[in-house]
Amino acid sequence: MHLTPAGFPSAIPGIGDEIDNAMQHAPQPKRQSILLSNDVGNKNTKIFLKQLPVPLHLCTIEPLCLLYILCNFVKTDLMRIDILTVLPDLLESPLNHSIVKRAKEKGLVEINIINLRDFTNDKYKSVDDYAFGGGAGMVMMIEPVYKAITKLKSERDYDEIIYTSPDGERFNQKMANQLSLKNNILILAGHYKGIDQRIRDHLITREISIGDYVLSGGELPAAIITDAIIRLIPGAISDEQSALSDSFQDDLLAPPVYTRPSDFNGWQVPPVLLSGHAAEIDKWRHEQAEERTERLRPDLLNGKKIL
Ligand code: SAM
Repeated sequence: MHLTPAGFPSAIPGIGDEIDNAMQHAPQPKRQSILLSNDVGNKNTKIFLKQLPVPLHLCTIEPLCLLYILCNFVKTDLMRIDILTVLPDLLESPLNHSIVKRAKEKGLVEINIINLRDFTNDKYKSVDDYAFGGGAGMVMMIEPVYKAITKLKSERDYDEIIYTSPDGERFNQKMANQLSLKNNILILAGHYKGIDQRIRDHLITREISIGDYVLSGGELPAAIITDAIIRLIPGAISDEQSALSDSFQDDLLAPPVYTRPSDFNGWQVPPVLLSGHAAEIDKWRHEQAEERTERLRPDLLNGKKIL
């Protein structure tokens, strides 16, 4: 069973969304985390409940206990992300470094890059053809994509078959949270003018855009979506709180961060961060997050005036 970013078993209907909403709406300074370490099988699975409102309401305690007990007895499934592409090399580097690499090494996720040309019939391994009706640009052919997706679907059930496309839903953190709850995801990276529409109509379950601009292919969007998902898997980041306190998790931008030295050429770190006073630091960070959000991304506040 796969665990949600909050460490809950996602297979329990509604859990992921409920938890996600609860966390999205809990005000930042009124949150605390409970970190529960738990050995499941050979994996040291960290089960953590993120950003709970404090004081804990009694109504949250019972389901949480139940979930904790469940988590103790279920083995976490490996998340699997398959990416279908005509340019596998383009995905090698982005998915073989940093947090994504470590998540793979820790056995939290398996990423398979599948070459669409392996599903062609002709000696040139063609995957594109002229567009019906004429016009500039080639179109990704239906047959290789159909063959590849049909074969992959025969091997496992996909929670989502995603096509990356400029006209898809705009990718955001909430979507990354939702996708990180899934067990099996297939991402089809488009090329040329795009894929034959019939693939989109009959085989794709979700279409995602990474922004209002056009790239040459879907490999970078696929890598971006994959990275955003993987960093949310419990254990992918050594300090779980780090992913949870990032921008957008709670409709706020992250506060500024500093490290040593505290004085660089007279550029000072805000004194509160050196005070050692945890409550004051939390308060300052929250105020900074609110101020930055109001100034830089007021759209995230949905018209709420917070300052
Ligand atoms: N003709 C398409 C259009 O105008 O919408 C653009 C095709 S683009 C040159 C080739 C492929 O790159 C697309 O099929 C898609 O898979 C990918 N792509 C390009 N921009 C993207 C974006 N902003 N988000 C997601 N995928 C994108």
